[in-house]
Amino acid sequence: MTRVLVNGAEGRMGRAVLEVVAGDPDLQVGAALERAGHHALGREVSTGIKLGSDIDAALAASDVVIDFTLPESTLALVEAAASRGVPHVIGTTGFDAAGLARIEAAASRVPIVMAANFSLGVNVLIDLVAAAAKQLADYDLEVLEMHHSRKVDAPSGTALRLAQAAADARGVSLDEEAVYHREGNTGPRETGSIGMQTLRAGDSVGEHTVYLAGPGERIELSHRALSRSNFASGAARAAKWLIGRKSALYSMQDVIKG
Ligand code: NAD
Repeated sequence: MTRVLVNGAEGRMGRAVLEVVAGDPDLQVGAALERAGHHALGREVSTGIKLGSDIDAALAASDVVIDFTLPESTLALVEAAASRGVPHVIGTTGFDAAGLARIEAAASRVPIVMAANFSLGVNVLIDLVAAAAKQLADYDLEVLEMHHSRKVDAPSGTALRLAQAAADARGVSLDEEAVYHREGNTGPRETGSIGMQTLRAGDSVGEHTVYLAGPGERIELSHRALSRSNFASGAARAAKWLIGRKSALYSMQDVIKG
């Protein structure tokens, strides 16, 4: 049995991960962490496992980490986990360049899977978007995403990943082509730009559509997450896949393609 440290175990994704781990015959909860001062610390979240905030004790009781929290929490834990040789599955989004550099440094010491989206469907969508963006290289491309009103980063990590796949397929720089905001007298759409639009509303788990529009036609490639269980199952699959791998930063596409 692989023992999983669930970071952010009281969060929306943390609770979904606890449920998936409980139902997986190959996994068990090794430890569950929450931020210091959280009202639920000390509560039993799985048989014999109490919610804690002691990183060292949690790592000592675990073989792999699954982490859906906030960038600062993930960065502190990934560095501690790397020092102890514990592999890490990172689902947290919203890292800046310095944060990504710290994750890459940790991945030189332990294997890490990091994905903006652990759903199988979205990872297939990434390939479809790359193929369409390449074959329809002169079509206008826009990425639209909707998430629940409590999400704290925008655009979503998945929207950025889809836009990056399109930019890579076209051989252009996303930094140069991305347009995140339109307001007022914008002038006509700049040829080759990649638009990113964000909606925040209600309790949407996550919806992404990539539009490719050309003369007289439009393709819409969409994915809708209907519950968080698909992300949690993908993260559990990644956690099992990581055991015994060599140190590197892997993607969910590496996991799916074996
Ligand atoms: P949430 O706010 O419901 O949960 C985050 C949890 O982390 C909270 O319970 C919070 O108390 C806890 N936390 C904060 N600081 C901590 C610390 N220092 N130590 C331990 N725990 C700490 O958020 P959520 O909806 O579960 O999303 C969490 C992250 O996962 C976000 O970045 C979101 O974008 C991302 N996400 C990724 C995927 C994916 O497939 N990669 C899917 C869904 C959400």
